[in-house]
Amino acid sequence: MTPSKITFNSGKLNVPDNPIIPFIEGDGIGPEIWGAAKTVFDTAVQSAYQGSKTVSWLPLLAGEAAYQKTGQWLPDDTLAALKENRVGIKGPLTTPIGHGHRSINVTLRQKLDLYACFRPVTYYPGTPSPVVHPEKVNIDVFRENTEDIYAGIDTPAGSPEAKEWQALLEKQGQLDKVRFPETAAYAIKPISEEGTTRLVKAALDYALANDKHIVTLVHKGNIMKKTEGAFKQWGYQLADTYDETFTTAEYDRIKAAEGSASADAALAEAKTTGKVIVNDVITDNFFQQVLLYPEHFQVVATMNLNGDYISDALAAQVGGIGIAPGGNLNYQTGHALFEATHGTAPQFAGQNKLNPTSLMLSGAMMFDYLGWTQAATLIRDGIKQAIASHHVTEDFAQDDTATVLGTSQFGDYVARLIG
Ligand code: NAD
Repeated sequence: MTPSKITFNSGKLNVPDNPIIPFIEGDGIGPEIWGAAKTVFDTAVQSAYQGSKTVSWLPLLAGEAAYQKTGQWLPDDTLAALKENRVGIKGPLTTPIGHGHRSINVTLRQKLDLYACFRPVTYYPGTPSPVVHPEKVNIDVFRENTEDIYAGIDTPAGSPEAKEWQALLEKQGQLDKVRFPETAAYAIKPISEEGTTRLVKAALDYALANDKHIVTLVHKGNIMKKTEGAFKQWGYQLADTYDETFTTAEYDRIKAAEGSASADAALAEAKTTGKVIVNDVITDNFFQQVLLYPEHFQVVATMNLNGDYISDALAAQVGGIGIAPGGNLNYQTGHALFEATHGTAPQFAGQNKLNPTSLMLSGAMMFDYLGWTQAATLIRDGIKQAIASHHVTEDFAQDDTATVLGTSQFGDYVARLIG
């Protein structure tokens, strides 16, 4: 089979039987977890398709490894290859420290316009968890990835730029809202209708395609009315255009016109007919509710900063960042980059100790995205069996019943289970 590129036409991904898939090993523990994950990926593909499908992995440089070889943290060739080959996977990358350097991850998301960060959070029995019922957590988070305070318009206190913001606010008659205007740093939080709509659409389409019945918009619109409040409003406006949804906005309209009994009846009817219920919750309340009643949530759509906090907090409930997978996607161009959600853990580099599960599950997400669902299912099943039988890396060893495996041994163990 000749390796060929994944293409995207008329909103559809075309995946050849031997696709070229770029990967970035990453820094710190990256090469170790990548090695373990690749063993599992190749075994799963072989087992699922018996040689009729295979991946041609294309190594790319980024991060520290790239800087040492090329002097660039994110070489142009790497970006071009990710654009050209459309779907890739990466380990963690060091964020360069120093003036003017931005996170490589944030840069990759912006350059490829990967507007949806999709993080499914689910529990694998046997994983240590700080909560009593981690199995009740089964929440898919869609985090907007290109806007919000992450735009990077962040001006230091006392800088000429900060002075210009100060002057602008004075002109607009708003400077008295700033408690210490002379010494404040200023940042900008762009939230747009286009950015909101494409993200909420991704969450709604996912819910419809995957038999999910609740989509929750998470926002702090009670305080940030014009930005996060607008996110909620635009989200509802979009959801109202779907025949298969019933929104809280609709509920409120019926209640205002016909009273609570009619609105309750419409909601009950929507539930019986299997519609997707679209509601919203204020962010601080959300953090409380997901600890108390995680079963009330299925799919979450939110903005960049909220989504960052939410996905890590939810991951902690099911075992932490060692097991939390993620994908960054643009559903309009087909571009996608799947990644371990944790960092490079440099203090553990070279010790063959940490958990490669986050990257393995990110790979399973990638295979699902390619339509190679049998390979994805094998990867998840292998991990499930390994954890359930207490064959785990050190971070998941709860007591002396566990067989503690190194990073590569865990990969080999999972591969043997599915091979
Ligand atoms: P980190 O995620 O690298 O490590 C924090 C702690 O989490 C580690 O000390 C370790 O105890 C635990 N941990 C991390 N990965 C684990 C794994 N696979 N298995 C078990 N435990 C694991 O965060 P940090 O120390 O704040 O960041 C280190 C570097 O990574 C920084 O340069 C940071 O910018 C970068 N970073 C990159 C990404 C990314 O590439 N997506 C994400 C976060 C941080």
